[in-house]
Amino acid sequence: MKNRQTLTDHQASARAALKQRGVWVPGPVYPTVESAQAAARRVPLARQLSAYLPIGDFEAYGARCEDGGALWVRHVGGDGPALEPMPQRMTVRVPTYGSGPGYSGVGIVTVSIAPTCPVCGGPRGFDDVKADPFMRDGETFVRDRWANRCGHQDRYDLVLDEARRTPPAPGGKTPEDAPARKLPALAVPCTRCGAKAGDLCTSHNGARLRLVDVHRPRTDAWHAHRVKTVPAAALVLAAANRRDVNHGRQAADLLAAKGFTAEADAVETLLKIQNGHLSAKQTVTYLVERAETGRGGEA
Ligand SMILES: [Zn+2]
Ligand SMILES: [Zn+2]
Repeated sequence: MKNRQTLTDHQASARAALKQRGVWVPGPVYPTVESAQAAARRVPLARQLSAYLPIGDFEAYGARCEDGGALWVRHVGGDGPALEPMPQRMTVRVPTYGSGPGYSGVGIVTVSIAPTCPVCGGPRGFDDVKADPFMRDGETFVRDRWANRCGHQDRYDLVLDEARRTPPAPGGKTPEDAPARKLPALAVPCTRCGAKAGDLCTSHNGARLRLVDVHRPRTDAWHAHRVKTVPAAALVLAAANRRDVNHGRQAADLLAAKGFTAEADAVETLLKIQNGHLSAKQTVTYLVERAETGRGGEA
């Protein structure tokens, strides 16, 4: 049977740990994270684990890994500098590529994740997080980049998934400062999970708060709500949905014909700036944003 942790396994990890004081090395893998954590509590006392004698010379932690729970140990005995404890969580900035009807673009969210690699349970590169600016659509964004010493590279989409699944850090991020709090879609209720206006979306029948995003139907509802409050945008969207207009050029003509003179002029100007590259749907987005920011020049 695999998953039997033998004395030899522990002796091997103790030997590896002794070679580099303070460096975490992998020990045996357990069927569950709970059993790995139970073993980790016995390591400093060398209780039933004589490989880690003398008492107090080794530290350990148990972490979730691909195959269950991984025990990681380090040697802390002997002479040397004081060693940093494992952090409870790590906080990183990651890019999202969210989109809604008429909207798309890059966003950056700050998330709290485990300090350990989800594949092997080894320490993530929490002590080596670097700001990584990048350009998209002429704008500069800053995400974080880090290398895990185990060699397993984290993927941003999986990091986001993990932040959604796992509870907020103890004493760290609370639902009050969750990144999702900043999403304008919170202004409308969610038809998917039943969250009220102003509340975070939830998963698993309300068991977990979604900290970094909201359900897609809620974003769509928010967009529809915004359009409804801007009559010129609502006019163009209705015509676009009927396929009466496809291009920004036709949208401008429709606006002028229906007496939305200021809006028609603004779209004309945008058409010139864009060299005529403007769809009816993009016109809707433009009109909504123009109304919300008060841009456009008229009183
Ligand atoms: Zn790893
Ligand atoms: Zn929801």
